Amino acid sequence: MASIFARIAAGEIPSYKVAADDRFYAFLDINPVAKGHVLVIPRLEVDYIFDLDDDTLAAMHIFAKRVARALKAAIPCRKVGMAVLGLEVPHAHIHLVPMQSEGDMDFRREKLQLTSEEMQQIADNIAAHFE
Ligand code: 5GP
Repeated sequence: MASIFARIAAGEIPSYKVAADDRFYAFLDINPVAKGHVLVIPRLEVDYIFDLDDDTLAAMHIFAKRVARALKAAIPCRKVGMAVLGLEVPHAHIHLVPMQSEGDMDFRREKLQLTSEEMQQIADNIAAHFE
């Protein structure tokens, strides 16, 4: 049985997609710590990010860089923060979070409640800046 993230990347489970290519997929985190909290995943199903082969790991970061640039253009912020946790979902992923302060990277804090319209608008805005 494919992981929930593999099923999202395959389009079997809906998501707020922001970018994709043949190897990677980026979408909004459903429980965002900040507006524009994005997850970048490989289509390849590997749980632990440091078990990825070198080429996929490097290419994933280069893809994440393109997403981070789109994110910064879409959502004004000081910098885009990057984090890897992976304690909840067993499919490698990078969190990208637009930061105003270091508190924006606190994954224990209360998550934002956004409407589906707001989530769609944020995703569309980031997608429009993706190059
Ligand atoms: P981690 O595994 O890095 O500790 O956390 C997994 C992240 O994935 C969490 O921030 C959580 O909100 C997000 N997440 C879990 N399930 C889903 C889902 O079905 N859809 C989306 N878009 N995000 C999810």
